[in-house]
Amino acid sequence: MKIRLTFLGLILINGLYGQITEPEATEIWEPVPVKIETPKDKAPSDALVLFDGTDFAEWTHTDGRSVEWIQEGDAMVVKPGTGNIQTKRKFRNFQLHIEWRSPTVLEGEGQGRGNSGVFLQKRYEVQVLDSYSSTTYSNGQAGAIYKQSIPLVNACRPVGEWNTYDILYQAPIFNEDGIKVSPAYVTVLHNGVVIQNHTLILGTTEYIGFPKNEAHGPDVIMLQDHSNPTAFRNIWIREL
Ligand code: MG
Repeated sequence: MKIRLTFLGLILINGLYGQITEPEATEIWEPVPVKIETPKDKAPSDALVLFDGTDFAEWTHTDGRSVEWIQEGDAMVVKPGTGNIQTKRKFRNFQLHIEWRSPTVLEGEGQGRGNSGVFLQKRYEVQVLDSYSSTTYSNGQAGAIYKQSIPLVNACRPVGEWNTYDILYQAPIFNEDGIKVSPAYVTVLHNGVVIQNHTLILGTTEYIGFPKNEAHGPDVIMLQDHSNPTAFRNIWIREL
């Protein structure tokens, strides 16, 4: 704080007495960013690990049941028919890392081929789909903000390979009357490639009809059981 005041003071002096000539005058030394560890292919040291293959401790089915999805090594696999799962914790603004793999047995087409989804705050779906070997409507393919925003490119890897999503999410803000005064935005990197670039989220990602905008606060991350055995692994989150 002392240095900040000094800096502000120098700006004032600059305004009163002329140009600053010393390079040190515009250096800011505080606050110092927290130093973290970033091990390769693992969560950063300041992230909350949501799933690393150990257990489903951070997850529940949406109706409160214990998770019935299948654990396979370091991955979790959708057990079709058991229902969506969600985090026990709620989040507002965050960076989410999640890896997913489409089923290797090719069954179904379009929306029936390896369909799942990452629902931000339980309402806004980043589509998970096998868009490498099957086609569907563009605003419903992998990486789409479902039925709202087409991904910039199709970065899907072949079936059987793992994909990564790195999602930066800024939550909407509602006033006391429940009116949205600031929209949600999302940036998505698919296998390291930007496919959604600060995309405006219009509201809930509806299968039928237009987006809805009911007020809400912090909420869960939900993963979809869309009747396909999609796998997930290495899930971590950093609140922003
Ligand atoms: Mg889906």
